[in-house]
Amino acid sequence: ADWAAAVDAVRRLAPDARVLLICHVNPDGDALGSMLGFGLGLRRSGLRRVQATFPGPPEVPEPFRELPGLELLVPATEAYPDPDLVVCFDAASESRLGELVDRLDTAPVAVVLDHHASNTGFGDVLLVQPGAAATSVVAEELLRRLGVPLDAGIAECLYVALATDTGSFRFDATTPEVHRLAARLLATGIRPGDISRRIFDTRPFGAVRLHADVLARTCLEPTAAGGHGFVWTYATLDDLARHDQQPWVLEPLIDSVRCTAEADVSCVLKQIAGDAWAVSLRSKGAVDVSLVAVTLGGGGHRFAAGFTGQGTAAEVAGRIRNTLDVALINRDDRG
Ligand code: 5GP
Ligand code: MN
Ligand code: MN
Repeated sequence: ADWAAAVDAVRRLAPDARVLLICHVNPDGDALGSMLGFGLGLRRSGLRRVQATFPGPPEVPEPFRELPGLELLVPATEAYPDPDLVVCFDAASESRLGELVDRLDTAPVAVVLDHHASNTGFGDVLLVQPGAAATSVVAEELLRRLGVPLDAGIAECLYVALATDTGSFRFDATTPEVHRLAARLLATGIRPGDISRRIFDTRPFGAVRLHADVLARTCLEPTAAGGHGFVWTYATLDDLARHDQQPWVLEPLIDSVRCTAEADVSCVLKQIAGDAWAVSLRSKGAVDVSLVAVTLGGGGHRFAAGFTGQGTAAEVAGRIRNTLDVALINRDDRG
């Protein structure tokens, strides 16, 4: 990681320089939290013109509507066309930046903060740490190297990012260093109970009934390698309309599906339009689902990955299962 170049790129800015922070489409807690926490830190360091934005629909998912730093957000259409600095958060590839991808070139310097093993290496200054539990781990280290002290606003954003990407400190990426970071964030006085209830444990009654419909049609299938089941379900735009719900309520479904004891790999297909599906993949470890996702045009991490698929839900699921068969057979060949 090129810390010196990143620190230099920020330190060189005049107080009225225009800084544009961007993150991946359909932003999650890590994308929004690391971006807004870093943005608040830049404001605190004296930079007056800091914008944050993301591609696609500008709506912030309900669970994140009380994040500190939301005042930094502008719709992508209103973002500085030629900022003095771009900082990119939690995006593994340029394709995740939609219409904002041109800013990587219009800005004199683009600093990229990320933690995906599949990161393609775009941008000018790369702070990519595949081992990091979240992009907010990288963001906090950069703020520390810039000499920006944490306050409760910055800390709440970075905590939401960390809690989201570690599954509330349950996944293997939850190292002693992650807990030490969490301790520094909590020491600012933020309230983890309130934050967790808001971002993980609150959804409309209609969403509870929608989850029941979607989980009722979950399928468990064997894979060719045997012993490694594949469990999947799908949610349609009609499901959302029938229960009068927004797409963000579908995000927790994968955490219910992936509990299936008989399956190593789990999947939820979320209809975007017609025959296009946003696909979430999870693995318990036997399969590297980022390889499966990359094969099918997406990316991600070993245990959590995704892509956009075309066809009927059953066709897309079939394609995943075929890819899994190959992945599992290759793995078994290697012993
Ligand atoms: P989720 O299932 O929570 O949406 O995504 C899990 C992981 O897969 C995240 O790290 C995310 O960055 C990655 N991911 C999800 N969808 C896509 C996609 O369409 N393209 C790429 N490159 N990565 C994705
Ligand atoms: Mn993300
Ligand atoms: Mn992340």
